[in-house]
Amino acid sequence: MSIKPARTRIAPSPTGHMHLGTARVALYDYLLAKKTGGQFILRIEDTDLKRTVPGAEQEIMDGLRWLGLQYDEGPDVGGKYGPYRQTERREIYQAHAKILVEKGHAYPCFCTPDRLEKMRQDQMKRKENPHYDGTCRKLSPDEAARRVANGEPYTIRFKMPYEGVTVAHDHLRGDITTENKQLNDYVLLKTDGLPTYHLAAIVDDHEMEITHVMRGSEWLGTFPLHVNIVRAFGWDEPVWIHLSVFLKPSGKGKMSKREAAQAMKDGYSIFIKDMQELGFTPEGVLNWSALMGWGVSEDDVMTVSQMVDRFTIDSLTPSPAAINFQKLDHFNATHIRLFTTEDLAARLKPYFTREGLNVNDEVLLKMIPLIRERLVTLDDCISFGAFFFRENVAPNLEDLIAKGLDAKQTVEIARRVYQILAAQPDISHERCEPPLRAYVEESGLNVNQVFGFLRVATTGQKVSPPLFESMEIIGRETCLRRIQNAIAMLEKA
Ligand code: GLU
Repeated sequence: MSIKPARTRIAPSPTGHMHLGTARVALYDYLLAKKTGGQFILRIEDTDLKRTVPGAEQEIMDGLRWLGLQYDEGPDVGGKYGPYRQTERREIYQAHAKILVEKGHAYPCFCTPDRLEKMRQDQMKRKENPHYDGTCRKLSPDEAARRVANGEPYTIRFKMPYEGVTVAHDHLRGDITTENKQLNDYVLLKTDGLPTYHLAAIVDDHEMEITHVMRGSEWLGTFPLHVNIVRAFGWDEPVWIHLSVFLKPSGKGKMSKREAAQAMKDGYSIFIKDMQELGFTPEGVLNWSALMGWGVSEDDVMTVSQMVDRFTIDSLTPSPAAINFQKLDHFNATHIRLFTTEDLAARLKPYFTREGLNVNDEVLLKMIPLIRERLVTLDDCISFGAFFFRENVAPNLEDLIAKGLDAKQTVEIARRVYQILAAQPDISHERCEPPLRAYVEESGLNVNQVFGFLRVATTGQKVSPPLFESMEIIGRETCLRRIQNAIAMLEKA
């Protein structure tokens, strides 16, 4: 059976930082489009001008590219269904609102904000759910046309049926039945002539021939409205998929601003840009977020192309998923181990550069096998490997002093170690380890006292990648110089 190519879209509002929720919907959209040989579209829903944040749109485009979820159509790549920014499509929405009015499915409303506010308060006092009371719905078309012609400000409201029920079908949740009397006459077009989400999204999904609408479950509340709008136009409905929400790590309640701030304190984030800065990889983030809402095995390590092979909308799940940052660490570290050395080198370099280090590419390629297994995030490369690129290291005096000995006794060890190493023509593991071990034997010291000193002296830190391999990469001259500096420090102590 051949599968019909899907047209999917991510339709974020540029109102803040791009977050994990957007990334996950975009991923599923992308997977479905690739799987079926269709297209994945970016549409910017920027009609709420008061909430638009400068730079947010660029952050979304950068975020999707960083994740590797390149859209086939969008504001900066074009496409034959454009424009892809809703503020550039005003006339399209106005024309469609007019069609609904003409068909008797919508009407102009002249109620002022003051009147609406008073109505809302009265309804609250009566313990009713706030809803429009239908005043302007009762106006005759002539009267409404006269007031429009007079220049009175107006909105266009959808005329919800008062009787009966609306049955809306969600692919993951089945039929959702709502009594129409519980629904509201929502505003479709605002007084400034811009549409609300309800009109704009429905019109665009139709005009752009979107086949599958995947979005967050926060839209379930107005889902019956959306279905009614589509039907009022007489259009075919897309496949609707309302995805699960993310819960806080504790599993109790939705991820909130406070939880997001706490995550940041712990070195995590739910914002894509932060994740990049914190050293998470697109592969790790995508693998992790893919599994929060997709019923495959929790530990499946997958690249995006493997996800494309396995993806079906039937395997998505509506159950909410608790955010588990330890799992993010796990997937990130796992993908780091799968990168080729060259690839990892290219990814680590910016973190070293950000630290003000001058990266020697040859050294970078050599040190990667020593640190790779220790990296959870890419920026861990600084704590494990910055010493490879520093001219000098600055160890703590206390760390240099061998365990159980004092500075004077450590100087003796340091001088001997220097002599032994200086006598070697090169600083390879094979040449250096045997004479140092022999020294440990004959001196009666223990291995840690000698090697511990050497590690701190050459790398500047107590914990490092394997000592001899590291020294080989640091090089003979630099190692000897660093040991001499350590001797000088101990002598002054
Ligand atoms: N602009 C909406 C949002 O950012 C998009 C919802 C949808 O995908 O339809 O939540």
